[in-house]
This record gives sequence, C-alpha cells and structure tokens, in this order.
Amino acid sequence: MKNPDRNAARLSATCPACGLLCDDVTLSIDPALSMQNGCAKGVQFFEHAFNTSISTTPLLAGKPADLESAVSAAADILSNSKQPLFAGLGTEVKGMRALLSLAEKTDATLDHMHSEATVSNMRTMQNSGWLTTTLAEIKNRADVILAIGTDISSSHPRFFEKLVWNTDNLFDKPTPELVFLGAPADNAKANIAPDGKQPTVIAAETRQLPEIVNALNALLNGKKIHADHIAGIAASTLSMLVEKLKTAKYAVIVWSASALKIPHAELTIQSIVQLINKLNENSRAAGLPLNSGDGDSSVNNTSTWLSGYPTRSRFRNGITEYDTYHYSTAKQLTHCDALLWVSTFNPQPAPDTQAPTIVIGHPDIKFAHAPEVFIPVGIPGVNHNGQMFRMDSSITLPLKKLRDSNLPTLSEVIASIEAKLVNENKA
Ligand code: SF4
Repeated sequence: MKNPDRNAARLSATCPACGLLCDDVTLSIDPALSMQNGCAKGVQFFEHAFNTSISTTPLLAGKPADLESAVSAAADILSNSKQPLFAGLGTEVKGMRALLSLAEKTDATLDHMHSEATVSNMRTMQNSGWLTTTLAEIKNRADVILAIGTDISSSHPRFFEKLVWNTDNLFDKPTPELVFLGAPADNAKANIAPDGKQPTVIAAETRQLPEIVNALNALLNGKKIHADHIAGIAASTLSMLVEKLKTAKYAVIVWSASALKIPHAELTIQSIVQLINKLNENSRAAGLPLNSGDGDSSVNNTSTWLSGYPTRSRFRNGITEYDTYHYSTAKQLTHCDALLWVSTFNPQPAPDTQAPTIVIGHPDIKFAHAPEVFIPVGIPGVNHNGQMFRMDSSITLPLKKLRDSNLPTLSEVIASIEAKLVNENKA
C-alpha cells in the first residue's frame, strides 16, 4: 500500500508503539521529528526508528558481511539444529506468518518475549472463558472504569484521551467515572478529566490485590465481611466500589497481566473475571486485558489462526504442541541447540545462551556477546508496510511505510533462510 504522504514533510502514520495503534498520527521530520496527535512514547519510538546513524550492515560473529552470507550462515545453524528456539518474536502479522512457516520446517519452539504475561490471561481464558470488550465499546458505552493494578496511561498513553474523555460518542453518555485500585498512585492521580474531575484512587500493593479482588467478589455475592479493613483498605471503601460497579450501566474492568507480578497471577485474573460474570447477572460489565507490546497481540493471533495455538508452542513433524510451562524461553534456553531471536519494533537484546545464536531485528540491537549472525531488518510501520492486531484483537490496522531504506523486511529474510534450507534438503 502506498502512503500518499511519503515524500512530503508531514507523514500520516499508524503508531505501533503500543496496543492502541493510533492511526490519527501525523509526523513532521524536517528539521526535527515532531508528532501531532501522538504522545511521548510514540515520539521516542519514531525518533529511534528514524535515527540514520545506525549501521544497517549484517554481522557474522561481529564482523561486517553481506546479506547473502548472513542468510546462508543462519540457514546452516538451523540445518544443524534438532531443537531450535524462536524467541523474542517482536513482529507483525506478515513477519509471524514467515516465522511459523520456518518453524514448521525446523521443528522449532516459539515463544514471544512478553508471553509470561500473556500466559496468565490465556490460562484464565482456557480455564473459565471470559467476557471482554472492544475499544469502540468502551468509547461509546462505558460509564465506570475500574483499573486494577495499572494506571493504564503509562503503557497506553492516549487511552483516556481517545476512549474516555472523547466527545465523539455514538450515544449520549456521561464521562466515565475512573477508579484505580492498587495502581501506581502518582500516575493514577494524574488522570484528571478535562472538566477537572479527579479519579478515585484506592492505594494497595500489587501483592495485596488477590485478597482485595476476592473480597470484592464476596461483597458482590452478598457475603458479610467480618473485618474493618481488608489488606489495609476500609471495608466500607470496598462496599462503595461494589455499589458503583452494580449501579453502572456499563462497567469496564481493566487489568495488565504484565503489571501483576505475583505468583499465580492467573488466579487473580480469574477472580476479576468472576466479578465481571456476577455483575452481568443484573447489569452490564466487561473486561479489558491490556497487552504488553512488541506485537504480542499480532503474534499470538497469527499463531493461533495458523497453527491452532498461541506461542509457547512447538512444531514436531508438522504437528503443533502447546505447553505454557515447558515451552517458555527460560526453560528452552537450557535445552535448545540454536536460538533465533527476533525483535523488529524495539532493540530488545537477545538472552544469553551457549547455543549458536541468530539475531534478526531492529538495527540498533546491542550485544553483550556478538551472536554468530546478526541481520538488521526494517522496522514495521517505518521502513515497510505491515499489519497489526489492535490490543482488543477486534481489528487489524495497516502499518505504513514512511521512508525508504536499504533494509530487507523480516519476512523476506526468513523466506530466504527457508528457501536455502529447502534447497539444501533437495541437494
Ligand atoms: S498512545 Fe500508543 S499508539 Fe498512540 S501514539 Fe502513543 S504510543 Fe503510539
């Protein structure tokens, strides 16, 4: 797809820096980069992506090489491997499609860099199902938003601007009431509506959230709590919160699995889901799990669509196996005999391993130890077009090419590696 503004000083873009995928963004790059309708996180992403002083030359054991030699070396490593690990997986739909095809040929294990968080959500969904909503529903219908363990705006900076304080609703509804429970207090308090309305902030430690959410469930189910305080919060405050949720016309409960750094976070998420289910007996409520970034929603949707499972899966003789425990990057790093690390949006470094390592990704990835192969590739939504799932997985949005570069795309490099492997097998 052609971006009509590509050669102009102002570029219309879709920002891939967080799961909101804002497609109303305009960039000016001359003389310095500035962003209209953006945020600081988006500016940081594009400034890094537009840095032209970074080398785009492939490296073999730290030494400059041409692309063909680097592709051959990567194919050799994978051809000599019986148990490769494809990790990081920071990419969009087309890149993931190519990786799945190569994984099938090489019996690889696949794990996304943020799947520790995704797995907590997945386990909940697989165990009990859940009722979640879309960003459009929040924008048009939500009247109470409860954020548990997250201030939302640190990870998804324009969430409130676009979905809560917007005035372009389909229906006449009041500005949603905001309640933050166990979120970083200063960040949460800063979410003040344009009309000056302050959010309600209920302070709690992340480790106390399981106890608090269970207490909310007990109150919602009409149980009496024989204590003045639960995890330091007055029982009356929790009762007030339950009443607010019960009387809402459309309550939305938001959580971030990556912020729930507690053992068995999936049980707390399950408890949040129970809260939502119970509210739906008499009113309307839905959940919104925040994504973690680096293309996690796109990668897991593409993997599920093509192989039947999200990542933490392994191909074996063309059959996919799924195991959220054994196929984690941490576990597989102790077993794998080759690592392919992919990170195209951000320069996320590859983990240390004794296994031969191929790194394909952002040109500015730094190394503690030079990998056997490094192939810099284009950044989706900057150097080439792409396709991404928004965080609510309800739609995909096109990423636009904003500038020419001499960088290949991830899918081109992966397809070249696969072609070399296929030709070697035929020879
Ligand atoms: S809110 Fe997210 S998608 Fe929107 S401009 Fe900021 S970082 Fe980009």
